[in-house]
Amino acid sequence: MSRFWSDLASQLTPYVPGEQPKAERLVKLNTNENPYGPSPAVLEAIAGTSASELKRYPDPDSSALKAAFAEREGLTPEQVFLGNGSDEVLAHTFQALLKHDKPLLFPDISYSFYPVWSELYQVNYQPVPLRDDFTIDVDAYSAPNSGILIPNPNAPTGVLLPREDIVRLLGAHPESVVVIDEAYIDFGGESATALIAEHNNLLVIQTVSKSRSLAGMRVGAAFGQAPLIEGLVRVKDSFNSYPMDVVAQRATLASLADEAWFRQCCDKVVATRERTDKVLRDLGFAVLPSAANFIFARHPGHDAAQIFAALRERGIVVRYFSKPRIDQFLRISIGTDEEMDELFAALAEILAM
Ligand code: PMP
Repeated sequence: MSRFWSDLASQLTPYVPGEQPKAERLVKLNTNENPYGPSPAVLEAIAGTSASELKRYPDPDSSALKAAFAEREGLTPEQVFLGNGSDEVLAHTFQALLKHDKPLLFPDISYSFYPVWSELYQVNYQPVPLRDDFTIDVDAYSAPNSGILIPNPNAPTGVLLPREDIVRLLGAHPESVVVIDEAYIDFGGESATALIAEHNNLLVIQTVSKSRSLAGMRVGAAFGQAPLIEGLVRVKDSFNSYPMDVVAQRATLASLADEAWFRQCCDKVVATRERTDKVLRDLGFAVLPSAANFIFARHPGHDAAQIFAALRERGIVVRYFSKPRIDQFLRISIGTDEEMDELFAALAEILAM
C-alpha cells in the first residue's frame, strides 16, 4: 500500500494516544481525564438542544462562547480562538505561527505530540533538555529561534514553571512566538493569560478536557493579542470554518457558567493528588512534584514496565512511556479516592512479590 502514500506520510511516526480500553471494569488512570464529570448544567444544556439548532450550521465565529471566554479572561473576543480540542488549536498554531527558518524550541521531555506536529507540518525544531531534577531551565532556551513552546505544568512530568520564569522567557525572546500550553493549569498553576496585555508574542492555549471534565466534547481555546489570533483564524478558515459544533458550544457555555462545580471538582482532584503523593512515597516511590491531575513516579527497586504490566493484569491502566530518561517512570492520572485506593492496594501487592 505504501506506494500510494506521499513521501511525507511514509516518513511520519504518528502520535500514539493513551489507550481507550473497551472493557467495562477497568480503573482507568491513563489519559488524565477528570473522574467527576461535567456540571449537571452541562447535561441539561445538551439535552435542551433543539431540532432547529441542529438542522442549521453553527455560528462560524462561535460568538457566544468566544465572548464567555473573553469575559472570563478580561480579553476581547478578537483575542480568543476556539478549536476542536486544544490538539486542534495546537495543530493550527504549528501551521500558522511556528513555521520559520529558525527552529522551534520545546522541552525534550514534554507532550509527545509536539515532534509529530513538527514533522507533519515540516517545522524545524530543537528539543531543549530539562534539568536533572526535571524542571525547565528557561536560560537554556538560548539558541536562535522563532518560537518556544512549553506545556505548563509540563506533561508528562506535572512540574510547574513559575510565572517569573515565563516573564523572563518573554523578555529574552521578544521576536519569537512564545506558546504556553496550559492543558493542566487549573490544578495548581497560575495562568499566563494575565501577561497577554503586555506581550504581543504570547499565546496561551487551554482546554476544557481536563479541569472541566469535557474531554468527549473536544473544545480548546487560545488567547493572545489580535494579530496572533488572526493568524490562527486564517489557517482555521482554510480547513473548516465551522470549528465548534452546536452541542459543544452549548455544553461549554454551561460549564463556564458553573464555577462552583468546576472549583469543587478541581479541589477534590488536588486533595486526592496530595494523598496519592504521600501514599506512593510511603510505598518507596520517588515522586516528582505535580501541579497537574496526574503524578509521575518511579520506584528505585522495581522495573516500571513490569509494574505497568502487573497493574494492567489487575484491571488498572496507567501510562508508561518507553523513552530514554523516563522509561522507569509511570504516569498515573488522579481518579476518585476509591479508584486510587484500588491502585494503592494493587501496588502494595505487586511490590511485595
Ligand atoms: N496539551 C497537553 C500537554 C496534553 O497533555 C493534552 C492531552 N493529551 C493536550 C494538549 C490536548 O488536549 P485536548 O485536545 O483534549 O484539549
